[in-house]
Amino acid sequence: MTAHFPFDNSYARLPVRFFTEQPPVPVSRPGLVAVNRPLADELGITLPEDPQEIAAIFAGNALPPGAAPLAQVYAGHQFGGWVPQLGDGRAILLGEVVNRTGTRRDIQLKGAGRTPYSRMGDGRAWLGPVLREYVVSEAMHALGIPTTRALAAVTTGEIVLREGRALPGAIITRVAASHIRIGTFQFFAAHKDVAALDALTRHTIARHYPEADGPLGLLRAVIGAQAHLIAAWMGVGFIHGVMNTDNVSIAGETIDYGPCAFMDAYAADKVFSSIDQFGRYAYANQPNVAVWNLAQLATALLPLMPDREAAVKTFTEEINAFPERFNAAWHRTLARKLGLTAQREGDVALAFDLLAIMERGQADFTRTFRALSLPNPGTAGAGFRQRDVFPPWFDRWQARLAQDGRSAAARRAAMQAVNPAFIPRNHRIEQVIDAAVAGDFAPFRRLTRILATPYADQPEHAAYQNGPAPEEEVTRTFCGT
Ligand code: AMP
Ligand code: MG
Repeated sequence: MTAHFPFDNSYARLPVRFFTEQPPVPVSRPGLVAVNRPLADELGITLPEDPQEIAAIFAGNALPPGAAPLAQVYAGHQFGGWVPQLGDGRAILLGEVVNRTGTRRDIQLKGAGRTPYSRMGDGRAWLGPVLREYVVSEAMHALGIPTTRALAAVTTGEIVLREGRALPGAIITRVAASHIRIGTFQFFAAHKDVAALDALTRHTIARHYPEADGPLGLLRAVIGAQAHLIAAWMGVGFIHGVMNTDNVSIAGETIDYGPCAFMDAYAADKVFSSIDQFGRYAYANQPNVAVWNLAQLATALLPLMPDREAAVKTFTEEINAFPERFNAAWHRTLARKLGLTAQREGDVALAFDLLAIMERGQADFTRTFRALSLPNPGTAGAGFRQRDVFPPWFDRWQARLAQDGRSAAARRAAMQAVNPAFIPRNHRIEQVIDAAVAGDFAPFRRLTRILATPYADQPEHAAYQNGPAPEEEVTRTFCGT
């Protein structure tokens, strides 16, 4: 059977200044690491049976019929500094597929060779970041958080040099609602290309927010999506790590899994990324950075507004409404994590006080909430270094639960559906990568399988619920470049 992708490439129909046509650069020896068949089915993609033929497709060596490969241009603020031109430096958009129910998704090969936007880079990726993105993006999806997905991972049979190390090259096939970023708007705004900005805005609204009315409606919708997304991240202890405006999807999906990490012990100021020296993208700073990023989007949209002064005023009001919208989502998330049916006065303080004692007691974020969701929730206290901080909080929580009048069994079921047993812990990802580099992909497969049902107990994999032993702890993560 030959491959069939139901392509309909709307981005490729935009004016040529949005992208450069660019085929993937073939690799010497494609090897299939993983293919996500349920996702392929969902997208309406038919794949050949032969793993070699599948590998050739996802390595960029064999283009599926109907592909229109291109590299997208964008700009962005990286750590607050303006970079006038970025773009797909190692990614090639094969095209968009539209499935039977009309869902449109980008199919992109990341690590597919040099493009006009590669700057000094080699256009390639190594196996580590490819497996990391595969594991974490699929885990995010299973957790119910908007995200790009992983359709396939292949090795290239070629060596990639990173910091003096020779590492196995690899390519991930990323699926996204689109790859339109805040930085895409910024690129055309910076070029004062109002016609392109207008075309991009129309394209984006039609594709992601058909109910939105013009640039203001788009801005409002993107603000809502970011508020929802960041509350969802924080609800599972996720730190994106590189929330530059070129890494913020207009569609509200988590994108760019470079230096991201889930925290083990709770700490509001937790940072993993080796290059985030000042904690700009620290766990609890993510909503603040979102405001900053959304203000860049608002600025980029301004040239479309006939009355600039009036637009500055309305756009500012929208941006200023972000904290309220974020807090609504975040407080709702926390209430659900604590098993509360209604939101009452004092609930936010109750949740924040738990976070505060977790921080003091160096308690594991995921394990604490999971323990509270199980029979004998008092055992959650065992995870606190300072044992005395937990019981008074626990008594308050019990008293508050009594006010809701829900059965313990119903509360537990609801809590287990929002407090995962399993998250992609850093030390597990490191183990997966080390094994894979040594040629053993079994740990990668096992971890992917466990994380596909993160809210199920899976007692046989109980060890995967644990945080790292001191010698396993990962304190730093790196961009995947
Ligand atoms: P990122 O840190 O992944 O958001 O990438 C920032 C910019 O660097 C983007 O324009 C990427 O396309 C580009 N880039 C990252 N890695 C490479 C690479 N290995 N080769 C070429 N360009 C790259
Ligand atoms: Mg990026």
